[in-house]
Amino acid sequence: MKKFFAVLLATVMTMSLLTACGSEAAETTTEETEAVETTEAEATETTEATETTETTETTEATEADVAVSDALADGVLTVGTNAEFPPFEYVDDNGEPDGFDIALIKAIGEKLGVTVEVENMEFASLISSIGSKIDVAIAGMTVTEERKNSVDFSNSYYEAVQYVILPEGSDIATADDLKDKAIGVQLGTTGDFIASDIEGASVSQYNKAVDAVNDLINGRVDCVIIDKNPALVFEGKFEGQVVAVDGAQFDFEPEEYAIAMPKGDTALVEQINAALEEIKADGTFDELVKTYIEE
Ligand code: GLN
Repeated sequence: MKKFFAVLLATVMTMSLLTACGSEAAETTTEETEAVETTEAEATETTEATETTETTETTEATEADVAVSDALADGVLTVGTNAEFPPFEYVDDNGEPDGFDIALIKAIGEKLGVTVEVENMEFASLISSIGSKIDVAIAGMTVTEERKNSVDFSNSYYEAVQYVILPEGSDIATADDLKDKAIGVQLGTTGDFIASDIEGASVSQYNKAVDAVNDLINGRVDCVIIDKNPALVFEGKFEGQVVAVDGAQFDFEPEEYAIAMPKGDTALVEQINAALEEIKADGTFDELVKTYIEE
């Protein structure tokens, strides 16, 4: 990330020098070229780490788009998540973020030869932090057309659907039954967007999904709309108090999870997709599904 700004700064400075004093043009141009070349060399190095079957394609994409792969140039991939979304991300017993997504992005970092640093933040802050506070976000994040206006997504790595968590014995069973209800959601999520479109619904937005479930148990909301796997985790955690119902019963559409990246960083998208492909091909992905989701 840092190097990108250094190059940008060098370029801007060079440009203003060029405008200010013509005689120094030759010197400053050389400097600019050197700065760009260093980045190119590093970018190519990083790409080599990812090379597999798609070698030529990946390398070409990186070379054609030199400046944009700088998210990896400092050897650190800073990853934003919201560790309130088990089994994809949660805080482990040592206070560290863990879960399927965290293990997946660490495996990707390994393929790319970079260290992964995880920043735990609010889900609703992730998108606006990409490209500044964080390089990428992995957070069980659904690909949506609206989000695509702000970020680029990797290939999707998991299919999900919204579920409805109900108190044991609730008679809510169809899309129609959700009208005029008090619905708990996690702020800024697709569950939030769906709930906000339900006629007459009053939506309570929480930063932590578990707080929504607690309010469901306390009777403050009638249901919680949240992704399938977290819903099943909460059903297990609050056994006998809540049930998780498949959103297909409420006509909710399937969703796809992907890693969000700075918009226009095509080299990074290529590199992360290549690493993801490798992880799927060598069995690592299935191992992670077994460890984190199926168990
Ligand atoms: N999949 C949902 C979304 O992208 C929820 C993600 C989450 O809460 N971490 O909005």
